[in-house]
Amino acid sequence: MGYDQRLGQGAWKNLRRFILDRDRWLCQIRGPKCTGGATCVDHIVSRVDGGDFYNPQNLRAACRACNAAGGAKLTNRKRWRAPPPPVEAPAGPEPVFRIF
Ligand SMILES: [Zn+2]
Repeated sequence: MGYDQRLGQGAWKNLRRFILDRDRWLCQIRGPKCTGGATCVDHIVSRVDGGDFYNPQNLRAACRACNAAGGAKLTNRKRWRAPPPPVEAPAGPEPVFRIF
């Protein structure tokens, strides 16, 4: 995921401020290394996963540690990738019980 140009624009800065104010500058992720005080805004559903960039409902205040760790994203259902299906045994002849 590269740097998103929109992060440097005024609209984003205003929105970021709005989210931080809404969440009272408190981290909403509360990850293991959480510092408590939010300075970042996290996209709950990541942009690369189709999350709404400017929707406040998809945004939450985050401290630098949580934002950098991305730990919350691991618990984010949309980030979770299903494991590959088990490899099935190659089809062969049906096992047959034989009575000798
Ligand atoms: Zn935090």
